[in-house]
Amino acid sequence: MAASISVAEAVWSEIRLSQSAVTDDQLSILHFLFGKNLERATRIVDQRGVKRVIGEPSGRSLFQVVGESRRREEYICFPFHYCSCYSFFYETINRGEQLTCKHQLAARLASSVGACVEVKMKLMRPIDLFQQALKNNKPVQGRFLGLDVGVKYVGLAISDPHNKIASPLSVLVRKKSKIDLMAKDFSLLISEFSLAGFIVGYPFDSQGAGSVEAVPVKLFMEELRNTGKFEGLPYTYWDERFTSKCVEVFLRPLNLQHALSKSFVDKFAAVGILQGYLDFVNRNLKETDSVLSR
Ligand SMILES: [Zn+2]
Repeated sequence: MAASISVAEAVWSEIRLSQSAVTDDQLSILHFLFGKNLERATRIVDQRGVKRVIGEPSGRSLFQVVGESRRREEYICFPFHYCSCYSFFYETINRGEQLTCKHQLAARLASSVGACVEVKMKLMRPIDLFQQALKNNKPVQGRFLGLDVGVKYVGLAISDPHNKIASPLSVLVRKKSKIDLMAKDFSLLISEFSLAGFIVGYPFDSQGAGSVEAVPVKLFMEELRNTGKFEGLPYTYWDERFTSKCVEVFLRPLNLQHALSKSFVDKFAAVGILQGYLDFVNRNLKETDSVLSR
């Protein structure tokens, strides 16, 4: 196994250095080493199924690889040592029958021949996002949009021009598989309010990591990012665990109709998220100022 791995490594670096098409010799070595998986990996690369997601500012990256079957499942993948697929677990790790799974192979192949779809994430720390917005002090200061991402709706809130107070804006219906339409709605808002960034509600768990409920939020942001219409627009995640609950308690005495109260909750949850963020950054800014002026 070790010998096969070093042969494979030699071929990969040869391909990467030559920066041109893969030669027949290289292909036949790869085919010898990886067998059927090479054909599958090639199909994945041809279908533009390898995405390299680069984090900023860390510069670290991981791959998201879409399988070549019709189910189009997506796997998180580190070409050298991990893939979230079933075959990696059983055939590569458990039984040792394969050097890598087809997704890892596709990621190696795509990155060696430069065929990855690169996705840059502009996820920032909450406080950095605010400071950047202050630095970009154009004639009109950019405002922030608060997002409460639900399964069916996305509640929106907007900050005032001084970024002190959040108010409800609207509720967008999530158009399944029509992310482009939603992207258009967002683009209009960005220009109308000269937005400086998105503050996205995120259910952190008690350790500060994303909980299971966070997965749909991440997927939504990824879909939005993949439309390619928001390149460079920064966003950050803000803990939303308590907001929806608080809003529900607050609205209960009003005895609203279910549909109406749902739309209120969505709108106000976004207000809660954004206001929580604004309070935090403004307080933080004041504290830093008073430390500096001492
Ligand atoms: Zn895999």
